[in-house]
Amino acid sequence: MENLLLTLVIVLLLALIGVIGLLVWTGHRYLKLQEQKNEPKKDAQEPEVLQTRPKAPSDVLKSIRTQLKTGLYCVDHEDQVATGHCAISGEAYCEHCLTKQKDIKVAKKFLDLYLDSEWVEVAMMANAEVSQDAVDRLVKVKRCLWEENSLPMIVQGHYKINVQNDEIEAFTVIIARKEDCDYIQKELSFMA
Ligand SMILES: [Zn+2]
Repeated sequence: MENLLLTLVIVLLLALIGVIGLLVWTGHRYLKLQEQKNEPKKDAQEPEVLQTRPKAPSDVLKSIRTQLKTGLYCVDHEDQVATGHCAISGEAYCEHCLTKQKDIKVAKKFLDLYLDSEWVEVAMMANAEVSQDAVDRLVKVKRCLWEENSLPMIVQGHYKINVQNDEIEAFTVIIARKEDCDYIQKELSFMA
């Protein structure tokens, strides 16, 4: 009888040790999991910090066009889908309203202005050196010059092949009428 009782006590004790062991192991595992959960969070925070820095846009002209975009439909024909933007006004127009002069799309209503003016290059900068902040300001200046002073400013993309590196370098070129050149150059002094 005593032997049976002793065996029972030993079995119970072993069971208790087993339960305690299991609890400690589970607790340890839980803590480890929590640690792992916290670790990726730290990693995730780092790219956020990087994103807050103004990044240079890869395609300045595209970035400017996106910001100037006024709508999907022609400003003069509400039911016509816009096929492009006028380089002078920045507004969206349908295919009937737009005409192409060399590489520049111009609204037909501004064609005389375009053809009758003598255009000169005001500024040229390598896209790699233009910050997002400069692009934002450029868009504002272009809009402001046109809407408030009726001064057209055309932004164009330009590519140069660097023979030494065998690389294609992208540039943004700003052209204006000869008579507006000095004024616009002053407005764009932030780019220099
Ligand atoms: Zn139209």
